Amino acid sequence: MQYSKLADLYEKLESTAKKLEKRDVLAEFYKKSDSSIGKVVMMSTGSVFPAGSLDLGLARGLMKKIIAKSSGSSLDAVNKTFKETGDLGLTAEHLMQKKKQVSLGSHVLTVEKVFSNLKELPNLTGKGSQERKVDLVVELLSHASPKEARYIVRTVIGGMRIGVAEGIVRDAIALAFEKEPKEVEHAFNVLGDFGLVAEMAQKGDLKADAKLFQPIRVMLAESAADLKEAMEAFKEPLVQTKYDGFRVQCHKDGNKVRVFSRRLDEVTHQFPDIEQMVKANVNAKQCIIEGEVIAVDSKGNPQPFQSLSRRIQRKHDIDKMVRDIQVQVNLFDVIYLNGKSLMNNPLKERWQELKKIIKENKSFCFADTIETNDYEKAEKFYQNSLKMGQEGVMVKNLSASYQPGKRVGFWLKIKPIMEPLDLVVVGAEWGEGKRAKWLSSMILAARSGSELLETGRMASGFTEDQLEQLTKKLKPLIIEEKEKIARIRPEIVIEIGYEEIQRSPKYPSGFALRFPRLLRLRDDKSPKDANTVKDIEKLFAMQKKRK
Ligand code: AMP
Repeated sequence: MQYSKLADLYEKLESTAKKLEKRDVLAEFYKKSDSSIGKVVMMSTGSVFPAGSLDLGLARGLMKKIIAKSSGSSLDAVNKTFKETGDLGLTAEHLMQKKKQVSLGSHVLTVEKVFSNLKELPNLTGKGSQERKVDLVVELLSHASPKEARYIVRTVIGGMRIGVAEGIVRDAIALAFEKEPKEVEHAFNVLGDFGLVAEMAQKGDLKADAKLFQPIRVMLAESAADLKEAMEAFKEPLVQTKYDGFRVQCHKDGNKVRVFSRRLDEVTHQFPDIEQMVKANVNAKQCIIEGEVIAVDSKGNPQPFQSLSRRIQRKHDIDKMVRDIQVQVNLFDVIYLNGKSLMNNPLKERWQELKKIIKENKSFCFADTIETNDYEKAEKFYQNSLKMGQEGVMVKNLSASYQPGKRVGFWLKIKPIMEPLDLVVVGAEWGEGKRAKWLSSMILAARSGSELLETGRMASGFTEDQLEQLTKKLKPLIIEEKEKIARIRPEIVIEIGYEEIQRSPKYPSGFALRFPRLLRLRDDKSPKDANTVKDIEKLFAMQKKRK
């Protein structure tokens, strides 16, 4: 398929804010996409990889150089146009327009070509890889029309501005291939890949089952006001420590093991120790198991999340990291076993199966658990989990199936204080005086459907190191800058502590946080995992109840 058709689609999507109109435009396009459907659907989400997987890894600065090179402009001209438009996509378009007036008529760019060049970017590492990345994008831009250039650049930097969220893609696939949105959603939750789901829908068969090495979107928990409420919610509750760590989903087939994060990123490289633990201590040919990883000291005592965070971020010198920061995997579920999905089996059976296949030791063990209806016992267990430095407890319904990608209330989480919120950084302001080199006040937002609604600003709780680290992460994500305020592509999630939630007409979410402060950066979470305005509303109600 010609890429120009996709660029026309992007333009149509950009020109309307109406969700139903976007869905209809997409559905019409999907219907006509034939054999390109997987790639087209993926690219209509603005990416070439399923959400949460690889980043294309090209920073804004490098993109400016690429635009200069392909349009035959100077870097100064790129910077000047960028200042005027506030958007690198439009910058490329404007500069290419000037160039095209001189040299018209190069080859036709196809969706397949754009897809394959972009897909190669994250695979390139090591010496000379930057140059090779530049070449791959320059090759595309030099064959692109100005409009195509706008969207290629936006795809590379990850900011399409076409307002197409997951829900719209789901509904468009359903409409195009006459399926129920629910069926499409279920397949997506199991496979985590809209391209694949659309290919299946086009063939007419949406039956998706857990597959080895295809990470499954994880099941999530709702908050409960207190332990009592949670215990009363289920006939057969299982009470389990809620560890303050990092969720892993381990896939094993014979001697091959791969480890995925909650965002479905592969983290096998960062955790070769976990890979080995699964190989050595799981007595099953094939399985998908889940657990929460925490960092521990040499005596096995839990360490703060920050130590673990260093392990997650580390890309090199892994062996040293493995020695310096030891981990413990606390297992709590098995969702696939020897050729069969266990997702529809009740937790009771899954927990029993897990018990059968794991050879426990101090680094690879079952999550601390009791099965009880007795509130007093549960309360003691809860207090003990807190004493161990963990977050609280999970109360799980033993009769419930595994619901991928869902927060449906079969798992309830209980934490002692006002629960911290995971919010998305959507903007930031450059500091003053000593802080002028840092983005030092963050504009935060919570999710509401496909939108992100602001909940106010946060400017305290940072150490200088954290400011440095955050600025480094946020700078490449700046989409637009007006005076000292930068609009940030929503990718970074931070955990915020606060004293109270207040109703506030000032912010689009309708809520503001009193004394918000940074607790930590959540590298393990994507904006899709951030808290919603509904969560805040619920916490607001709980806060009232507690008072
Ligand atoms: P939250 O991020 O607050 O929605 O809580 C859900 C997360 O708690 C999961 O994604 C896990 O990473 C983590 N967690 C810690 N302990 C457990 C446990 N025993 N069972 C399930 N999830 C757990």
